[in-house]
Amino acid sequence: MCSSTLEGNMEYDYIIVGGGSAGCVLANRLSANSDRQVLLLEAGPVDSHPYIKIPAAFYKLFKSKIDYGFYTEPQACAANRKLFVPRGKTLGGSGAINAMIYMRGHRADFDGWAAAGNKGWSYDEVLPYFKRSECNGSFQGNDFHGQTGEWHISSQQPHPLTQLYLAAAKDAGHAELADFNADADAGVGIHQANIKNGKRHSPAHAFLVPARGRENLTIKTGLQVERLQLDGARVTGVWVQLHGRMHLIKVRKEVIVTAGSIHSPLLLLRSGIGDHHYLQSIGIAPQHHLPGVGHNLQDHPVAPLIYRTVRRASLDSADNLWNLSRWLFTQKGPFTSNLAEGGGFLRSRPDLPAPDLQLHFAPAFFVDHGFNKPKGNGMSLAPILLQPKSRGRVSLDPSNFHKPLIDPQVFQVAEDLQLLRTGFKMALQIMQQEVLAPWRKGLFMPQSALEDDAAIDQYLRENVELLYHPVGTCKMGNDAQAVVDDQLRIHGLEGIRIADASIMPTITRGNTQAPTIMIAEKAADMLLGRGVI
Ligand SMILES: Cc1cc2nc3c(=O)[nH]c(=O)nc-3n(C[C@H](O)[C@H](O)[C@H](O)COP(=O)(O)OP(=O)(O)OC[C@H]3O[C@@H](n4cnc5c(N)ncnc54)[C@H](O)[C@@H]3O)c2cc1C
Repeated sequence: MCSSTLEGNMEYDYIIVGGGSAGCVLANRLSANSDRQVLLLEAGPVDSHPYIKIPAAFYKLFKSKIDYGFYTEPQACAANRKLFVPRGKTLGGSGAINAMIYMRGHRADFDGWAAAGNKGWSYDEVLPYFKRSECNGSFQGNDFHGQTGEWHISSQQPHPLTQLYLAAAKDAGHAELADFNADADAGVGIHQANIKNGKRHSPAHAFLVPARGRENLTIKTGLQVERLQLDGARVTGVWVQLHGRMHLIKVRKEVIVTAGSIHSPLLLLRSGIGDHHYLQSIGIAPQHHLPGVGHNLQDHPVAPLIYRTVRRASLDSADNLWNLSRWLFTQKGPFTSNLAEGGGFLRSRPDLPAPDLQLHFAPAFFVDHGFNKPKGNGMSLAPILLQPKSRGRVSLDPSNFHKPLIDPQVFQVAEDLQLLRTGFKMALQIMQQEVLAPWRKGLFMPQSALEDDAAIDQYLRENVELLYHPVGTCKMGNDAQAVVDDQLRIHGLEGIRIADASIMPTITRGNTQAPTIMIAEKAADMLLGRGVI
């Protein structure tokens, strides 16, 4: 049942705060047994926006009523620019507006989490959780993929330009990878995506739709959790506001926070959980001193490298009524593309244990998050920094405790800029290959060749963006900045866990939705007292 009223039961076994990528998985898993009463609270509306289902329309949801549409604080090392931070606000969360690339990350990511003292999080230990949620239509009969999960993952039919990108990357010396998620390393290939029969298979569609008929699962949309109720060291409920009045909903077992990397720390801070001095300085009564809340923010910096192509060579010509109708009636054609069709992982130095750069190729212009649609046709290759050393912070706007101040500190560590420069040069080398010559019509971004490293650095500062992957603001671990332990329990509190992208101690080498869904799967087992699957 889905509603935004508050009649009836005001006490549940489990309350899940945030119906995004992680929250949808947990709602499904926790309500699987009818003995448990589960409440899912989502601040946004139901996921009925027509563009959610159309893969190629994902960027048209930016700044819509289902996107929080945040901006960062001015970034001192990125020409003082404010960078766009879209975040989904609907059932499915950011998974309802994202680019659908299915990417788990590198073995070294999870082994690194485990080596930092997080027991149970090594690659071999998390692999079963990736497989549990997955129904892979293309890669079957191997040790890396699942076929019985709810979330449909499929291979796409790439655009001819994407095929040419692949050929160019191979000519530039990069190996081709058939499957990025089979314990793969460096190489280039075509992305798999959570697309089913030409439509986005969002986390809400995959995990909530099969569960929403269960009588023991209550889904409330349009209800934002204002703060947590703490009785001593135990969380006993959540406060929501409806029609100007505050209501307490009590919890018998646990509250699970899945509000995402921006909102999970905000909720904790509003509840007085965070650094004592900071909370006092903004007028919030401290309840539980936890200095790491909101710190350790990481995202993937990305740079645009965009060329004009010859007429009608790219997907830019396909954005028309004919193709929209084709998608509406048959779910076929160019609107089934997630745009970021091609990919790759590169090492900036051969001696590195794992790739440190990623590539996304779109057979189209992707300028200013899609807000700017140049005339004609283009193709975009974006080099991405996989393991930035800079660390940022999410905090509360003192004038409005519902607004975040997002400060990722892009390029604050100079090495990050140098490494993205290397990635930019590697991307240029691919785009300059002969095989693309008949299609390339000249540079669009940058407008002309950049003469030296200083010019590249200036271009990067003036054009770097974030790949919409904020993580780490409620970090898992045992050090002074850690917010949750390896069972995802908030240090020093009972009756509450955090189970979303915010718990990642370090950002994964790749897109962040699949690892977030893995985290939620693992959290469900912890909550239900199940051992390793
Ligand atoms: C534009 C875009 C493109 C992306 N592309 C990709 C991609 O191609 N592949 C990939 O792997 N990853 C991608 N990502 C990243 C991926 O979508 C996220 O890492 C993932 O969805 C994070 O899941 P989450 O559960 O942590 O948070 P979210 O999915 O953001 O969910 C949080 C939910 O909590 C709700 N909420 C917040 N506060 C409250 C409150 N106080 N009370 C109640 N509800 C609340 C929000 O409304 C939201 O619905 C992209 C993200 C974006 C935005």
